[in-house]
Amino acid sequence: MQQKTIAYIGLGSNLSDPKVQVSNAAKEIADITNCRVIALSSLYLSKPMGPQDQDDYINAVVSLETSLSALDLLNALQKIENSAGRVRKDNRWGARILDCDILLYGNKNIDNERLTVPHYGMTVREFVLLPLAEIAPNLSLPDGTSISSLASEINCNGIVKL
Ligand code: ATP
Ligand code: MG
Ligand code: MG
Repeated sequence: MQQKTIAYIGLGSNLSDPKVQVSNAAKEIADITNCRVIALSSLYLSKPMGPQDQDDYINAVVSLETSLSALDLLNALQKIENSAGRVRKDNRWGARILDCDILLYGNKNIDNERLTVPHYGMTVREFVLLPLAEIAPNLSLPDGTSISSLASEINCNGIVKL
């Protein structure tokens, strides 16, 4: 059996009752085989990135312990996105029913066609850093950067903890 790894997943939604979408996603993550959820952050209400002609987002972060490989975890998360009804469109950062991104997978750096970990945007997104620092205040990136210090320095962009 593969070694257990702690991973952090960023969740986001701004369509079809986003609070319910994010809460359901957390439940479905808890049901992934070989995953055990450790913590779920509060829900956060955040402004959209990119196109502004879309509703605000609900975001949260989940921590889990898993024996799945990072790629198998991504496969399981994409199944959850698809079963929520996510339709991939060409417009980057457009409205979506559910986004599940792997933020961190242990202390690993991963860079392949399907997966970049740490997630490339996590250090500049308040809707990732604030919920992540809430559930893992002592966490660092693989390069040693403290998540809490990034969170305390980021422009909060009107984010509201619900
Ligand atoms: P962003 O990546 O800027 O947050 P997004 O989440 O909307 O945008 P998606 O359409 O959800 O982007 O994902 C596009 C592709 O990104 C996926 O098919 C997946 O293979 C790839 N990807 C790369 N790294 C990751 C990661 N760490 N977590 C999730 N998907 C990733
Ligand atoms: Mg994303
Ligand atoms: Mg994504």
